[in-house]
Amino acid sequence: MRQSAEMQLKPAAAKKIKSGYPLILKDAVTGTAAPPQEGAVLRLTDESGGYIATGYYGIQNKGIGWVLSRKESEKIDSRFFAGKFRQARAKRTAFDASADTTAFRLFNGEGDGIGGLTVDFYAGFCMVSWYSEGIYSFREAVYEALAEVAEPRGIYEKLRFNTDGQYVEQDDYVSGERGEFPLLVQENGMNFAVDLNDGAMTGIFLDQRNVRKALRDDYASGKSVLNTFSYTGAFSVAALLGGATRTTSVDLAKRSLPKTIEQFAVNGIDFEAQDIKVMDVFDYFGYAARHGLKFDVVVLDPPSFARTKKKTFSTSKDYPKLLKDTLKITSDDGLIIASTNNASFSMKKFKSFIHKAFTETETRYKITEEHQLPEDFVFPERYPEFNYLKVVFIRVMK
Ligand code: SAH
Repeated sequence: MRQSAEMQLKPAAAKKIKSGYPLILKDAVTGTAAPPQEGAVLRLTDESGGYIATGYYGIQNKGIGWVLSRKESEKIDSRFFAGKFRQARAKRTAFDASADTTAFRLFNGEGDGIGGLTVDFYAGFCMVSWYSEGIYSFREAVYEALAEVAEPRGIYEKLRFNTDGQYVEQDDYVSGERGEFPLLVQENGMNFAVDLNDGAMTGIFLDQRNVRKALRDDYASGKSVLNTFSYTGAFSVAALLGGATRTTSVDLAKRSLPKTIEQFAVNGIDFEAQDIKVMDVFDYFGYAARHGLKFDVVVLDPPSFARTKKKTFSTSKDYPKLLKDTLKITSDDGLIIASTNNASFSMKKFKSFIHKAFTETETRYKITEEHQLPEDFVFPERYPEFNYLKVVFIRVMK
């Protein structure tokens, strides 16, 4: 039986949630009462016991749960989830109708009214990510609703909880048709091979769609491109389809080599004419500097936090240094595409890192464009902290 619990919020948290904030932060409650069970339906109240909202309990990095409804009589059942999925679909009709983009985010957690749950659409298949045990306890009702509203060919899932951020190897198949992987999806006419049943990631990060398009359409023609932290080489593909003369893709993970070759192959690109390096980006910077290599365009898309044998890297501390290293191997009028998905700092702060790196190296620069989450990654409008992606195109003026 699912637990129902009353949760009395501290005044500041009550005020914030009343005004529309969807996340129940760890410090929203005094913490004297025994915590509810994961998945408990919460009646959130103010100090005098007045109803504010209905939520669920689910521990997930900085929160202990999410608001689900602001109607006291609303039940959290498959009808509720179906309603949310329908609203989410209605916001994305442009993607349904698109012939040249077949992969997009169908449901984006708190932005679509259910924190802790995302659904990505890949050529007819749904990939559901669960971010807490609490939300996962609604699995049956959610899948019933998803099947009804999205009518997918098949459903796959990723469990992203109870694992210290580590992915637990498992069969991610849920129901419907089993996909044949790699599955080919299109994005603005580019092909990408994805695998919904091969570890934590699928082969492509859908939130970078507009950045790939901008690189292909406006920046790549006739340029040499260095793609760092390249994963499956999606930015290299975009650059080559935009007329780049040559790409170099650098990633530490061994799987990046066959995966990058695969992305090139499905786009008719001869991989042998490209450089794919399986190595630490920081070692590559040294190598490139020693060999006097310069690139017209450099893509920087590091993980928020990375630990290698030699060192740790954190975007919130080390981004200026990363940019300074990059500048040494960027052409005089080159372009740096600096990206981060670290949710702990704002676009303004990110730009201050950029400013610091360029002023400390006495290099002039001009920002030519900026990107944050694309239209299908809906976020709560009044709370830009949920718009975690920050990408800045920086023209170097040496
Ligand atoms: N830019 C990619 C996504 C990057 S994901 C894209 O758009 O698809 C982050 C990648 O960084 C992972 O593939 C990981 O293997 C790699 N990585 C982490 N630390 C690294 C390091 N020190 N050197 C090289 N690659 C690293």
